[in-house]
Amino acid sequence: MNLTGELLIGRQSVRGTHGEIRAIDPASGETLAPAFGGATRAQLDQACALAAQAFDGYRETPLAQRAALLEKIAANLLALGDALIARCVSESGLPRARIEGELGRTMSQLRLFAGVVRRGDFLGLRIDPAQPQRMPLPRVDLRLRHIALGPVAVFGASNFPLAFSVAGGDTASALAAGCPVVVKAHPAHPGTSELVGRAIQKAVEELGLPEGTFSLLFDSGLEIAQGLVSDHRIKAVGFTGSRAGGTALMQLAAARSEPIPVYAEMSSINPVLLFPHALGNRADAIGKAFAASLTLGAGQFCTNPGLILAVDGPDLERFLAAAEAAIAQIPASTMLTPGIHRAYGAGVETLGCHPQVSTVARGQAGAQYQGQAALFSTTAQAFLEHEALRAEVFGAASLVVRCPDLATMQRVVESLEGQLTAAIHIDEADYDTARSFLPALERRVGRILVNGFATGVEVSHAMVHGGPYPSTSDGRSTSVGSLAIARFLRPVCYQDMPAALLPQALRAGNPLGLAVRVDGEMQPGHQPVAHTG
Ligand code: NAP
Repeated sequence: MNLTGELLIGRQSVRGTHGEIRAIDPASGETLAPAFGGATRAQLDQACALAAQAFDGYRETPLAQRAALLEKIAANLLALGDALIARCVSESGLPRARIEGELGRTMSQLRLFAGVVRRGDFLGLRIDPAQPQRMPLPRVDLRLRHIALGPVAVFGASNFPLAFSVAGGDTASALAAGCPVVVKAHPAHPGTSELVGRAIQKAVEELGLPEGTFSLLFDSGLEIAQGLVSDHRIKAVGFTGSRAGGTALMQLAAARSEPIPVYAEMSSINPVLLFPHALGNRADAIGKAFAASLTLGAGQFCTNPGLILAVDGPDLERFLAAAEAAIAQIPASTMLTPGIHRAYGAGVETLGCHPQVSTVARGQAGAQYQGQAALFSTTAQAFLEHEALRAEVFGAASLVVRCPDLATMQRVVESLEGQLTAAIHIDEADYDTARSFLPALERRVGRILVNGFATGVEVSHAMVHGGPYPSTSDGRSTSVGSLAIARFLRPVCYQDMPAALLPQALRAGNPLGLAVRVDGEMQPGHQPVAHTG
């Protein structure tokens, strides 16, 4: 498929005329063809108008049809074959094997949500039947289901050009919920965005769904992104990126005459706590595994281990020696964009030049736009006193905090902002100590993992990829896993509604065979699935 550089607005492909966006191959520094036209205000308005028109029709599509859309998008992505992989590699600088794996993850996310839609339990059906004889007052008939919020604006992430971009987790969960989606493409991978956008556009058409179900816009500045979040027809936002960008969008959304939720996944340093017995028994192995996790994908993961906490002493020295030896062997790798490379360099310099910080290890130096891994150490006191030591350095950089004792390690944990993850390394003899840390970790993070590192996020039902601010804008939800659909739903209650007017899912006899809570008791579904409403 040839790239045209056009916007996808509903069924149309149109040239944006408000400036241009060009991708850069970060491996070579070359500018890639074609130029992508930035959307105008009128084109943004058209995409939002179509999404609003599509909403009522799309949200009431039969569940089987909505599931089929998600599966069709996955099939259309696969059919793009090497064209998609090759373009994505050249726009991201990520290795081919990583992009192939990410395509697999993107398709399995879409299929996961197709399963969620078919099961229908996301509707959260509840029925409290009328009790006309109840004394002293009769009870009304109450029926509840969840409906889609409305059109959703999705901002593609730079670091997952497939799995968290145009057809990524935010889009899949919003479409699954019944929300039309308007994507603002990330400027780092416009060609990948167009290819994926066309796969979605084709799937929408093949399934005969309303044309405004999906649109894709390019933005040559910030105007379209900000206009999208401010548009009265947009009812929620999904975003992955920087703290500054996410916070700016949150503020815009909150300032609207009708404020809307922004689900922004932003900044996390993902503390790793090394407990004394585990460190005593396995310092070398943990040090090597840490170096591998730190440098995976040039460290450009939101779950990258950016902070190590341990009690100072010979076992920590062994961990540092093993990590240093491993990091020193690791070649520099290409970062996603010149801007991300620049920000990484500045973050490393801030840490390296800090008077209270020592450099433990550097990876091998590299060429233009390649990030060189870096490991630093500091004291607990310095960490507690200096805000600058807590900032996320997006890339393969981490800071080890030497704590004089476990009580100080607790204080360091208590000083942390919200995080996506915390990893604890423990042996059985550490369990009691670890137990005393768990309440503080639960208050701060979305996922606590044991004897591992958080890079490599499973896409499944029990996954939480979220956490208190600033790791995300709303720690009550997740952006990875099937629970992500809940971000784009809200409950509606029908009181004494005649059967003829009720949504099918809530009618007597459970015609759709979905799970429903009747008078508080869960009744499992019996899944006829080939239903029509
Ligand atoms: P970014 O600068 O936050 O940009 C993400 C998206 O949001 C882009 O489409 C960007 O558009 C848009 N955007 C940013 N600020 C905006 C604003 N004020 N108004 C409207 N739209 C705005 O993130 P990035 O370019 O992907 O990477 C930059 C930094 O973000 C990294 O160095 C890293 O620190 C962080 N990051 C974090 C994660 C994570 O998972 N936590 C992932 C990726 C990046 P434009 O580019 O056109 O401005």
